[in-house]
Amino acid sequence: MIRTSLRLYSSASVQITTIPKFAQRSTIFSLVQPTGKIHLGNYLGAIRNWKDISESSENEQENTFIFGLADLHALTLPNEASVLKRNRYEAIASIIAAGVDPEKCILYHQSSVPEHAELNWVLTCLTSMGLLSRMTTWKSKVFDSDNAAFGSSEQNMKAGLFCYPVLQSADILLYKSTHVPVGDDQSQHLELSRSLASSFNKQFKSDFFPLPTTLLTPTNKVLSLRNPTKKMSKSDLDQNSCIYINESPEVIQKKVRKATTDSIQGKITFDEVNRPGVSNLINIIAGLKRNSIDQTVEELSWITNHKELKDYICELLDTEFRDTRQYFEELTRNTTYLDKVCRLGSEKAREIASKNMREVKRLTGLD
Ligand code: AMP
Repeated sequence: MIRTSLRLYSSASVQITTIPKFAQRSTIFSLVQPTGKIHLGNYLGAIRNWKDISESSENEQENTFIFGLADLHALTLPNEASVLKRNRYEAIASIIAAGVDPEKCILYHQSSVPEHAELNWVLTCLTSMGLLSRMTTWKSKVFDSDNAAFGSSEQNMKAGLFCYPVLQSADILLYKSTHVPVGDDQSQHLELSRSLASSFNKQFKSDFFPLPTTLLTPTNKVLSLRNPTKKMSKSDLDQNSCIYINESPEVIQKKVRKATTDSIQGKITFDEVNRPGVSNLINIIAGLKRNSIDQTVEELSWITNHKELKDYICELLDTEFRDTRQYFEELTRNTTYLDKVCRLGSEKAREIASKNMREVKRLTGLD
């Protein structure tokens, strides 16, 4: 039996402040889970970045942009089939409505490329249980009783939740991705991808997989509006904690009004320890305005109370998502178009995936 020890590779992680220019023949890859609509964390932490990167004319030549829906990952939580089907449409519509242009990138569903599952198995056989049990996402699910994934005990939790970081590595490595734009909640999973790429290369005496660079988005992790010690998440049972990019201004306003702040009067200040709620709102404003936190605090110096801060953020959100909302409605009515986009995307993705998987099989002796 071959044992592989894995070490986490934390290097190759870059916080981007401007749109990077990629070397020719780079592959930029990222997926989001299709658990319904896209929330503000997904938008600021991933999707707006996909749009910016793939739209930059400097990056058009000879680079491949692959974005899409991690629908196999959605099975880690219980879902009605009809709900998942609807969520897949809503998520792809949200991504396009948020400005990601299917003409400029490959947009597809993970499940439509069977090679993801094939490579997942090869990598699962290289991954230690210890490493997976140290993943913070796993630990937060086991120990967080507010989380929808929480079972009665660790013993009852599904293996899919434990193993999905390996599938995520397979997603990335299947396309020999060089760069992965994600929010900082995904840093540890990207370290795992680099470890697995390195272990595979070592064990099968090749340099087949590049070690993918994490491109951390400029915005810090967006936190729950109700409990700013946790990240904003679709799976949060308290849906007032999470803003979706295609919600009506009235619903967004209601959620922002209910956002946790503090009892400190006067000027607003950024202090994640003593003022986590206010700091989260400042972070969201900084993200929306593409400004630094310091710049944002300075610009908000006219604000003297929480109500003014909340009014301001509602206005910003309304402006940012006015067109998105309308386009989203149009797209969800046009499922024929959405199907066509994903079919074309899958064909292109499959072409790359099957070629790489053939090579993995050759290297591992499976072919
Ligand atoms: P998920 O919805 O968990 O599949 O995440 C999809 C993408 O959104 C990943 O790149 C995450 O890093 C990013 N993301 C998800 N939640 C947040 C959050 N609360 N703050 C920032 N980025 C996030």
